[in-house]
Amino acid sequence: GLFGNTGWRPAWRNPAPKAEYDAIIIGGGGHGLSTAYYLAKNHGLTNIAVLEKGYLGGGNVGRNTTIVRANYFLPGNSEFYSHSLKLWEGLEADLNYNVMHSQRGLINLFHSDGQRDAFARRGNAMINQGDDAELLDRDGVRKLLPYLDFEQTRFPIYGGLLHRRGGTARHDAVAWGYARAADQRGVDLIQNCEVTGIDIENGVVRGVQTTRGAIRAKKVGIVVAGRSSQVAAMAGLRLPIESHILQAFVTEGLKPVIDHVISFGMGHFYISQSDKGGLVFGGDLDFYASYAARGNLPMVEHVMEAGMTLMPMIGRAKVLRSWGGIMDMTPDGSPVIDRTHVEGLYLDCGWNYGGFKAVPASGFCMAHLMATDQPHEVVRAFRLDRFATGHLLDEEGTGSQHN
Ligand code: FAD
Repeated sequence: GLFGNTGWRPAWRNPAPKAEYDAIIIGGGGHGLSTAYYLAKNHGLTNIAVLEKGYLGGGNVGRNTTIVRANYFLPGNSEFYSHSLKLWEGLEADLNYNVMHSQRGLINLFHSDGQRDAFARRGNAMINQGDDAELLDRDGVRKLLPYLDFEQTRFPIYGGLLHRRGGTARHDAVAWGYARAADQRGVDLIQNCEVTGIDIENGVVRGVQTTRGAIRAKKVGIVVAGRSSQVAAMAGLRLPIESHILQAFVTEGLKPVIDHVISFGMGHFYISQSDKGGLVFGGDLDFYASYAARGNLPMVEHVMEAGMTLMPMIGRAKVLRSWGGIMDMTPDGSPVIDRTHVEGLYLDCGWNYGGFKAVPASGFCMAHLMATDQPHEVVRAFRLDRFATGHLLDEEGTGSQHN
């Protein structure tokens, strides 16, 4: 602004697609961009392209409530999210980009003795994994979050599980940081390029059809989040995924008031305050399958009610905007990073409500899989065939807190 907006250069090139690449990533969201970055950085593959049907970061990576945490319970998930949080902690230096990663602490509230037990177990699992967790009693929570309604409410607060290394990051900046760093390593980022078909010969992937013509490739990664079922169907795959809408909300900018990430334990509501001052919050899915990136009013009402129950002061803030994103929901709430039945075709999907925090490790492990044909050790459980064999990773059933 001080220079009259002159002399600014684009943060990445805008190349025309080449006829052939060593690898193509379909989807320019957080996971696709980080996959491309780690393919180039960790595996020296630079003749690669990311094909994005819209603009980079226009999907869920720019629509989420930005919560970053490593508090998963089940072996299989917890080592993956632990790995991801460590990558987050070095991300700004790695990308040379300010993604505003803020480890302000996440507090999951509990409201009954049973919930306290469940959170104590979760906290122990987190500590066993090498991450941090502290169980707070009511006074411990009151000291940190004095503005909550502790007693005069339908669900009095019994305490909370504090995860100090949890927090938030600026979601768009994560997409832009990975995009710029991938571009600098030679990756072609091709926007307005929708993949409309996957070319397969004798069980081997040969390339893709796009709205900008056919592009050949030795390897192809499907990394399209809410559109996973549609794109995988182009290769004859029927995925165990349903696409549902999740909404989020932001208020007008306020002076600093909420300095943690808080999640309510008796309804779907989680909240933090952005550096610009907006209160950013969300709730549960809209609970019908849809590809429309917009939400319905009954969920808006539910989220507002949960917010009012937890912190009545929020009623004085004006909601500025709300929006929706398309979630790739698996039946067990855990993701897939795996090969497919087609040689050279790989799949990264099933991120449910919680794939923002997974962006660094997902890309890291998807790149490992695409480059070596072997799963990285922290994603061994993220197999596609678990839905056929019954080796589910049922993190939904263990009461994980959304986002
Ligand atoms: P996306 O950004 O959606 O990327 C997929 C890309 O693929 C899109 O850009 C799309 O245009 C492109 N694409 C699709 N089809 C094609 C095609 N045929 N050809 C080319 N390109 C194609 N997670 C957290 O960890 N913490 C949170 O607090 C959190 N809150 C959330 C709140 C909301 C409201 C929403 C919607 C999500 C939230 N999530 C959260 C989940 C997280 O945002 C997603 O799991 C994650 O962003 C999905 O991966 P992605 O970034 O790669 O997806």
